[in-house]
Amino acid sequence: MSAPKLKCDIKPLCDKHLVEMEAVRVKAKMGGSDEWTWDPFRCPVQGCTRSFDSGGYITVSNGMIDPASRNFIGCEEGAMFVESVQEDRLIWRCCIDGCERSRATDRAFLPEL
Ligand SMILES: [Zn+2]
Ligand SMILES: [Zn+2]
Repeated sequence: MSAPKLKCDIKPLCDKHLVEMEAVRVKAKMGGSDEWTWDPFRCPVQGCTRSFDSGGYITVSNGMIDPASRNFIGCEEGAMFVESVQEDRLIWRCCIDGCERSRATDRAFLPEL
């Protein structure tokens, strides 16, 4: 079974700043010759290191993922991202290719960071 594929055209908003995130490609050495490529979205706000990938929103500090920072609204196979803001509600959308599920939460759902 292949891993669920992320949609290629998503535009997640930072769950802290509610601005559109930028797609980046991170390469990391995993020891030996293993190279690990990771395609998260990063918040463009200076000083913000929020990232989004199929595991949800996380903060990266000094190249390390801070597990306590994870903000995850799950669908069946992946996380949902903040797609848009409507007044005081956040519209979340599944990031997995072929899945159109969405849900709305209170804006107050935002994590305290
Ligand atoms: Zn941000
Ligand atoms: Zn889904």
